[in-house]
Amino acid sequence: MKKVLVLEDESSIRSFIVINLRRAGYEVVEAETGEEALEKLDHHRDTRVALLDVMLPGIDGFEVCRRIRATNPHIGIIMLTARAQEMDKVTGLMTGADDYVTKPFSPAELTARVDALMRRSGGNEANDGEIRQEPFLLNTRNRTLEKNGQRVKLTQVEYAIMKMFMENPGKALSREEILDMVWGRDYFGELKIVDVNIRRLRLKIEDNPTNPTYITTVWGYGYKWGF
Ligand code: CA
Repeated sequence: MKKVLVLEDESSIRSFIVINLRRAGYEVVEAETGEEALEKLDHHRDTRVALLDVMLPGIDGFEVCRRIRATNPHIGIIMLTARAQEMDKVTGLMTGADDYVTKPFSPAELTARVDALMRRSGGNEANDGEIRQEPFLLNTRNRTLEKNGQRVKLTQVEYAIMKMFMENPGKALSREEILDMVWGRDYFGELKIVDVNIRRLRLKIEDNPTNPTYITTVWGYGYKWGF
């Protein structure tokens, strides 16, 4: 089941998105307001990706994102942001979104982003097991992370970043490499998405996020999982 929720109050944009996603083989659930989106997600618990418009008449897309994330760490979330609202992208990612698409977008761009998230939220991992690096324990079977025995709630993207780091301890990874490994080679987004996701991940896993010791910065290059 490849189910996608589309939250967009402008009916012409919504139909454009819905038609293109259906053409790409997705089952689509539509919502016109944030409240309706939350209600529908409650009924369609097998929804794997949600597209959330930011500017809405009632609660805005960021608030919808926050409320979804409060109970569902696994669903993929893409924010639909207006052109030139550069800050929206960062705000959206900080509230728990995995990606953003700037309007106006092409059908190809949109379906590529949805496909990429869908692949990541698939959960069909062949290499069952655990990666243990004290104080962390990554369980690749149920895609969870524990720190000192306590569960750390991660989004799918954050999980993918942690797995990449823990599989490459001590290795300096460039931001381009991280983008390729986590988002895929066919992803055509910006490198900034790497920094924003790592900033958010640090808030969850570091003892002191302002002085990170697990995910360290390699200046002018990228990041390293190292102590
Ligand atoms: Ca709107």
